[in-house]
Amino acid sequence: MSIADNLRFFQNELHGTPARLVVVTKTHPVERLREAYEAGARLFGENKVQEMVAKQPELPADVEWHLIGHLQTNKVKYVAPFVHTIQSIDSLRLLLEIDKQAARHSRVVRGLLQFHVAREETKSGLSLADAEELLGSEAFRNARHVQLTGIMGIATNTDDAAQVQREFRELRGIFEKLKARYFADEPAFRELSMGMSADYRLALAEGSTLIRVGSAIFGARNYGKVD
Ligand SMILES: *Cc1c(COP(=O)(O)O)cnc(C)c1O
Repeated sequence: MSIADNLRFFQNELHGTPARLVVVTKTHPVERLREAYEAGARLFGENKVQEMVAKQPELPADVEWHLIGHLQTNKVKYVAPFVHTIQSIDSLRLLLEIDKQAARHSRVVRGLLQFHVAREETKSGLSLADAEELLGSEAFRNARHVQLTGIMGIATNTDDAAQVQREFRELRGIFEKLKARYFADEPAFRELSMGMSADYRLALAEGSTLIRVGSAIFGARNYGKVD
C-alpha cells in the first residue's frame, strides 16, 4: 500500500465524522512528507522541535504543523515563527513562554492542554485540578498570543480495549467540563485530540476531532532503537 492509498483509507474512515487527520511524520524523511502532501495531507505532527524545524522550510507554506511531543520552554522560540498548534501544553510556565515567543512574531499560536490519563507513569500531562488552576490564573487570562483550542491525550498502550475506551471517555469528560466552565462562549475551543494508529477507531467512537496517525500511514518507524 502506498502513502496515498493509506491516506485514502483514512479519509474513508473519517467520512461522516467531525474528525480530521494529523499525519504523524516523525522520523520520516522529507520526501515521504512531500508524498503525503501531494496526496492531500495538510496537518503534519512532529514530536521533536529540531526535526520539525528542519522539515518545515522544505514543505509548502500551507502545511499546519502540530507539535505533539513534550516541549521544553527553552525550545519554544524555534517553533514560534511557524507552528500552528502545540498539542502538548502541560504547564502554565510553558503556556506563558509560548505566549511570549508568539508575541515576538506577532502571531497567535494555538494550543491544546495535554492530559495524563494513561496508566504508564511516563506519559506526561496535566490532571483536571492542574488545568483548573492554570485556567483560573490571571497570567493565563492575560496571555493574548496563545489560544487554547482544546485538549489532547494519549491512552495506555495496551490490547485491553475496555481500558483504552475508559481513558478516551475520561478525556471527553474533561473536555466537556472545561468547555462548559471556561470556554462556553468560545467556539474555537473544540478539539479533542485522541487516537493513534492502534486505537483511532475507539477514539472516534468517543468523539475525537483529531486523530494522530503515523505508522498506519508510513509503516513502522526506524529509530535505531526501541521506542
Ligand atoms: C508517535 C505519536 C503518534 C502516532 O503514533 P502511531 O502509533 O505511529 O500512529 C501519535 N501521538 C503522539 C503524541 C505520538 O508521539
